[in-house]
Amino acid sequence: IDPRFIRNFSIIAHVDHGKSTLADRLLEATGTVSSREMREQYLDRMDLERERGITIKAQTVRLTYRAEDGNTYTLNLIDTPGHVDFVYEVSRSLAACEGALLVVDASQGVEAQTLANVYLALENDLEIIPVLNKIDLPQADPERVKAEIEEIIGLDASEAILASAKEGIGTKEILEAIVKKIPPPKGEPQGPLRALIFDSWFDPYLGVVVLIRVVDGRIYKGQKIKMMSTGKTFEVTKVGIFAPHPVEVESLSMGEVGFFAASIKEVRDTKIGDTVTEVDQPAATPLPGFREVKPMVFCGLFPVETAQYEALREAMEKLWLNDPAFSYEPETSEALGFGFRCGFLGLLHMEIVQERLEREFGLNLISTAPAVRYRITLNSGEEIYVDNPAKFPPRDRITQIEEPYIRADIYIPKEYIGPVVKLCEEKRGEQKEMRYISQGRVLLVYELPFAEVVLDFYDRLKSVSRGYASLDYEPIGYRPSDLVKLDIYINKQPVDALSAIVHRDKAYYRGRDLAAKLKEVIPRQLFEVVIQAAIGSRVIARERIPPLRKNVTAKCYGGDITRKRKLLEKQKEGKKRMKQFGRVEIPQEAFLAVLKI
Ligand code: GDP
Ligand code: MG
Repeated sequence: IDPRFIRNFSIIAHVDHGKSTLADRLLEATGTVSSREMREQYLDRMDLERERGITIKAQTVRLTYRAEDGNTYTLNLIDTPGHVDFVYEVSRSLAACEGALLVVDASQGVEAQTLANVYLALENDLEIIPVLNKIDLPQADPERVKAEIEEIIGLDASEAILASAKEGIGTKEILEAIVKKIPPPKGEPQGPLRALIFDSWFDPYLGVVVLIRVVDGRIYKGQKIKMMSTGKTFEVTKVGIFAPHPVEVESLSMGEVGFFAASIKEVRDTKIGDTVTEVDQPAATPLPGFREVKPMVFCGLFPVETAQYEALREAMEKLWLNDPAFSYEPETSEALGFGFRCGFLGLLHMEIVQERLEREFGLNLISTAPAVRYRITLNSGEEIYVDNPAKFPPRDRITQIEEPYIRADIYIPKEYIGPVVKLCEEKRGEQKEMRYISQGRVLLVYELPFAEVVLDFYDRLKSVSRGYASLDYEPIGYRPSDLVKLDIYINKQPVDALSAIVHRDKAYYRGRDLAAKLKEVIPRQLFEVVIQAAIGSRVIARERIPPLRKNVTAKCYGGDITRKRKLLEKQKEGKKRMKQFGRVEIPQEAFLAVLKI
């Protein structure tokens, strides 16, 4: 294809502003999907994605459009994942484009993810076309939203397209703007192959399918290729495009977007952001911007039924083949038995993995509280990273503890400034900025310890702002903090699954809450149970459960034997699900309840 007639673009938007609906209209208007085949949110293919209304994997689709200038253009729509957990994936998808449609809901305005995505687009030098969507709504206020785009983003919004993806208004103008405003791809058509990997997944028939943007040269069937970050080589078995169904093509050349397969067995051999080159004539330098993604959030995952451990291990292996961004290693907990310590890109990623394990593999799991990775300087001068409170070195070996911080951009209507500021302060946040972005809407910028965000910040933010707040964040590095390890003891036995790393100022409240909660959920035993929360050897909270005196069957003494047997049977069943703790039995539900706070 003549690169002059190629346009590679993406749609960026805050969640629910209409990205998927607009994509549907573009598919329809270009005849890519017939009206018979058309269904809502066509590109959100995976079941799980459709249910949650989020796109996890990037999608690409080739549209063919005959423009008003009489030429026929190939438009490659690259749909990006739309959540803060997947920032790096988004940035690589955008790096495969020359332009982006910036979709803003005209009844809402600029939100946190709008801005985050715009920054990524600007970093990649994309031409940005503002689209004000949902103008059919009576509350739509395009002039206010235009002013917001100019004020917050600094983009000229005078030519912003007024659209309703729902009613198909503005679709034609959008297609013309793509052709006229977005520049064609530039590169070396004859040079050695350089293709950017922006997504990949495992397909049982083809092996790993790799989405690429060819930056220089050409990729074709039979070619020997090399991954520049690892040096691994493969032979291309298939090259194709999505239109929207996969179609095999002869080759993909400079400026084109599509996929290839090369009998690759593991997704981790196709790292997002890596450069594919050819073995015979390798490129001298890779494309800029490659980095390895690292998990940010950690938790323990344990099977409710111990017998499911093997099944869990197999499920994790399988899932990891498709999603190498999540990590896992075996962990043994006295309280929860055999399980795994897992790492995720963020909270949503954690939920998705857990849900897939439970749903696709029929497992029933318990997870421990999400935690972050701490950087610890030992007295010896050695620096270590620890993501599991149970593995924290003893206090007297530690010189310094540092925790990861983030910068959070929070957008809210001004009525909620009070409660949101209070929440951020409670979470040890430091305010960096507070700015009115239009009448009634405010941007708050905070620096916060990521550990606090991981616990329940997002849910709390949503609830104190009645769902109106939008949040985006980025990591800003490690900072020293006065952190301590809080341990829970039941009759002098430490309960490892409940250990936590907390700020010294909060340790007392957290310890007291945990002890009180445990007192509520642990059934009375035949002996006294003492629950203690401690920092090192100092006990900071203590609760006591008095002993039980009566035998369960005592009240049916002399009575009906079947009833007695039933009671005993019931008791036995309950016992099966209990964890033996020292001599204290803690029902599984107790762990679940406590792990939730
Ligand atoms: P995404 O999260 O950005 O992909 O947003 P969706 O395309 O899923 O749209 C979110 C919601 O807004 C859905 O209920 C759509 O039906 C609705 N929606 C999208 N575009 C329009 C529009 O132009 N007008 C109206 N009234 N609703 C729209
Ligand atoms: Mg969507």
